[in-house]
Amino acid sequence: MRGPAGSSGHPGRDGLGLGTRGASRGRARPSPQGGPLLRKDPVVGAAISPLSDLQSLLTVYRPDLATELTALDAPAYRYQQVYEHLFLRPGEPFAQATALPIPTRIALDSYGESTLSSDASRTATDGTTKLLLSGSDGLRLETVLMPYRDRSTVCVSSQVGCPVGCAFCATGAMGFRRNLVVGEIVDQVRMAASLAGRLGRRVSNVVFMGMGEPLLSLQAVLDSIRILTDPHGLNLAHRSISISTIGIPGGILRLARTEPQVNLALSLHAADDRTRARLVPPRFRHPLAEILDAAWEHFAITRRKLLVEYVLIKGVNDSHEDAHRLAGLLRGRVVTVNLLAWNPILRSTGTLSSSEPDPAKDRRANARDLNRPILRTLAAPSRASVAGFRDTLSAAGVKTVIRHSKGSRIGAACGQLAAQHDSYFPYL
Ligand code: SAH
Ligand code: SF4
Repeated sequence: MRGPAGSSGHPGRDGLGLGTRGASRGRARPSPQGGPLLRKDPVVGAAISPLSDLQSLLTVYRPDLATELTALDAPAYRYQQVYEHLFLRPGEPFAQATALPIPTRIALDSYGESTLSSDASRTATDGTTKLLLSGSDGLRLETVLMPYRDRSTVCVSSQVGCPVGCAFCATGAMGFRRNLVVGEIVDQVRMAASLAGRLGRRVSNVVFMGMGEPLLSLQAVLDSIRILTDPHGLNLAHRSISISTIGIPGGILRLARTEPQVNLALSLHAADDRTRARLVPPRFRHPLAEILDAAWEHFAITRRKLLVEYVLIKGVNDSHEDAHRLAGLLRGRVVTVNLLAWNPILRSTGTLSSSEPDPAKDRRANARDLNRPILRTLAAPSRASVAGFRDTLSAAGVKTVIRHSKGSRIGAACGQLAAQHDSYFPYL
């Protein structure tokens, strides 16, 4: 492996003692540059690497495991022991699960195997740790552990890259590679939980705010939530899980009906469709009215407060008028607006004009959008304009909080996640 992780001596290489078993099991791992499993020109909506081998390992985390145990003639209480082993001692082979009878250990041996390997980690002075992980096909993704005074939050990825391609986001600029599968989402939390455990902490919250658009991979996200909240496993509370979306109305409604206790965060970023069109390419952009209708329906079903995320970009969406318009959309609703100053993303994460030529019409439209000159010159807003924006919203009766991203110095802040093939930590 190469890159600053090895050359600068700063970040730990792996250092987690996790996630390397998959590689040792003889599954082919292509080179970081690509290799036979990677296609260069990803097609939105289609996985680019064969995942059948991953899928077969994934069933292990599902309650299907109970069926497996029944087949082994193991009593139901073993389920709890097996789950505890999987989640509290991740990466440890079942051979070492001495509480289990030997035949069960042998039968389950490959099940604890991680679907991800941990290539490197980097910790910022505020305690935020970014984990650079790779799937068994060599594609890289990132997970962030954020310790707060009263909780520890894991920011997980749902996709490698993102098909939405928002102009202000490093993940969007890297293009789309594939959806993560259930075990890969769960494994991110397992690994972060293991790291947290060594720091004397316990993971209490999970936010789907890493790489990717979770509502475009909703089934895997829902399945992972079922596993993360299993009382015999990580035992997370549904109410401490949050999903952030660019606004996919159908997905918002399905989420409300399937997981009504999970929190919804809506990345609005604009109070009118015209401004939003400058930031979010057309392929997955829905009209604001439809997105908000879905959000209000979500509230009607769940009674969970909506979190509205608004990334302020100088001269694009940070004016007094923008704030007024936003207040008009949200006034009287049960919402909190989180204002984030745009985090600069390095062009080395992929330039806004780097999309490969694409035969499909809508993708050409996408590329045209990404090429808009204004989006090449994004700038962070001044402190005064962020405060002014907040004051306008607050004065209009809309609860508003200014959020400061953790981990921005290590490229672990909101929107900065974009694992590269040629550089582990391009922001240093
Ligand atoms: N796809 C989802 C979740 C991942 S992005 C979504 O868009 O909501 C998580 C959050 O980071 C979103 O609110 C997104 O708008 C924000 N974000 C992306 N790029 C950013 C950047 N450069 N600076 C600040 N926030 C950013
Ligand atoms: Fe995808 Fe969210 Fe980034 Fe937009 S902001 S490109 S939806 S990850």
